[in-house]
Amino acid sequence: MIIGHRRIIQYLSRSAALKNLSHAYLFSGPASLGKMTLAMEFAKFLQCPNTKNGKQQFAYCGRCKDCYDMDRKSHPDFTIFPPFASEETEIKIGQIRNLIKIFSFKNYSAPYKIAIIDNADQMTNEAANALLKTLEEPSDNSILILIASHPETLLPTIVSRCQQIKFFSVPYCDLEKGLLNYFNRDSGVSADIPGVARLSSGLPGIAVKIIQNPVFKEKKEKNYQNFFEINNSSLNLKYQYVSSMLAQENEISDTLNDWLYILKDIIYLHSGARRFILNIRIENQLKNLQERYSLKKTADLMDKIKETIFILRVTNVNKKLALENLMLEL
Ligand SMILES: [Zn+2]
Repeated sequence: MIIGHRRIIQYLSRSAALKNLSHAYLFSGPASLGKMTLAMEFAKFLQCPNTKNGKQQFAYCGRCKDCYDMDRKSHPDFTIFPPFASEETEIKIGQIRNLIKIFSFKNYSAPYKIAIIDNADQMTNEAANALLKTLEEPSDNSILILIASHPETLLPTIVSRCQQIKFFSVPYCDLEKGLLNYFNRDSGVSADIPGVARLSSGLPGIAVKIIQNPVFKEKKEKNYQNFFEINNSSLNLKYQYVSSMLAQENEISDTLNDWLYILKDIIYLHSGARRFILNIRIENQLKNLQERYSLKKTADLMDKIKETIFILRVTNVNKKLALENLMLEL
């Protein structure tokens, strides 16, 4: 089930009905928005012979052999890279060669030959160049869906050959409604859905994770509280905090992303758009911070945090130095 992204569902459903599909799509946007879920549902919809015109979800029948095979991820005309349950995230040339081979065969039973490449932004250069050739000469009835959280690191020549579908965070009320449907009464989940919807900053994947994993929720709350504390502490304590961040290196980007959501709320406070504030339960803390952060300073700090996330991810920069630099701005 897809939470949110109604316009994308409608657009792709209509393109399919009008037989106006692209050979290659690029689903881009931050992680945890549901890009992979939507890609899988779209693929199932394309392969099902008994579709209807759905407005909220892709309307496949769910009962035919194609739907069944898609659910079991064993459909002969569907492939996913990296393969399911694979530990590897990087896409290497061998996988792209495999894809080219698959696309060179005629579709077996369904109307299309579909492949999804997850983490397409983590392709090696060799793989990207090989993929480019496939994109230049697409085979009939083949549809390729690239998924990328950081499309800016893809080759521009790849991006220009795909139809880009940009994903944005899901508005609070849609997220709440979607979660209520997802965790319906029969699921036995008794979470505070409205609270979770706010805490997850418009990211359905995060919302589901919060509900299924209480530890994750605590961590998120802690990231928010740490941000308020750091803002009131000495430089010395800020640097100590950097050391604790470095001790859990794989969580740094999650922490920084959570800080961005706090700052986004401060922007909403400045612009009088209170109803958009996600972390309304801590409104007083946000207001205290707002007194210290002008609109411009908030926007500048957001840029600085985004820049830090980017350089930590794509360069070999000294992490300690990058984070300490960021602390100077708080
Ligand atoms: Zn079906």
